[in-house]
Amino acid sequence: MLVVMQSHATEDQVRAVCQRIESLGYKALPVPGAGRTAICITGNQGAVDIGSLEAMPGVIECIPVSKPYKLVSRDVKLENTVVRIPTPSGEVSFGDGAIGLVGGPCAVETREQAFAVARGIKSAGARLFRGGAYKPRTSPYSFQGLGEPGLKILAEVRDEFGLGIVTEAIDNESLELVEKYADVIQIGARNMQNFSLLKRAGRSHKPVLLKRGMSATLDEFLMAAEYVMSEGNYNVILCERGVRTFSDFTRNTLDLSIVPAVQRRSHLPIVVDPSHGTGKRHKVLPLSRAAIAVGADGLLVEVHHDPDRALSDGMQSILPDEFAQLIVEAREIAAVVHRTIN
Ligand code: PEP
Ligand code: MN
Repeated sequence: MLVVMQSHATEDQVRAVCQRIESLGYKALPVPGAGRTAICITGNQGAVDIGSLEAMPGVIECIPVSKPYKLVSRDVKLENTVVRIPTPSGEVSFGDGAIGLVGGPCAVETREQAFAVARGIKSAGARLFRGGAYKPRTSPYSFQGLGEPGLKILAEVRDEFGLGIVTEAIDNESLELVEKYADVIQIGARNMQNFSLLKRAGRSHKPVLLKRGMSATLDEFLMAAEYVMSEGNYNVILCERGVRTFSDFTRNTLDLSIVPAVQRRSHLPIVVDPSHGTGKRHKVLPLSRAAIAVGADGLLVEVHHDPDRALSDGMQSILPDEFAQLIVEAREIAAVVHRTIN
């Protein structure tokens, strides 16, 4: 159930409605929008008895919500959510029409490696650096990331190059540390339905980049974002990174059709990761072009200065110069779809 407030409803009126909802034993989650505030009612098992809610001062109407997700839904908030990431080189935004760019190696390997890639990311013109200090690997024998020393290297990258930091938390324990160092917390595909991690990320003050699980449906993807938002963190960026199919010429099949599907149902920004989405470095540029053309709010690309010697995902990593070229082309395609690169 959604309680829609009038555009001129006062804060006191919103508060009074929330109190009434809570007195009925439900949870009230106000979502302020540009024109009006909507209040989501959650915690109900069946239909909510709206009783006198509709008659309360400031209320326009009570609308039953048929979809399983509420806070992520455009029914609750018509205008796009803009997630703003402050970096030492200025703000990078996702969802306001400008396209946000994120580049970096799959994993932080050494200080020298992270600095070499960061230098390339910066000179290409991007302001967000992504590198994993905690890596969720299929094999327990593969490189698992440097852990906290890796986070410290990321902090140095931030100071030295003025880049904002995106890095992954793989469990509640690593999230405690990651949120101290990162500007954006990544939740990886394998953790998209790690509900305790999603809830913990929802209690963080840092924005969350949530990757789609490799076999997740659209509803499951949006419900994962709902978990984060239901704990109070409304700064969620969704990320399409490819799904498992029968295709045998890519690591994953990049499902670009989910971009307009998400934008129709949700106000949250969605970015595309053509690196994991294809697994092949020669496919990264063409799929990046396509992602921008389809209307993605950003790109997340794996970049390495020596990809053949990378400790993880070298096959899908492009060189810093190729990333710079990608940005040149992205800018041209963005103009055609009335977007800019930020
Ligand atoms: C990664 O971003 O390096 C990663 C492991 O991605 P995903 O969770 O999409 O597989
Ligand atoms: Mn990777």
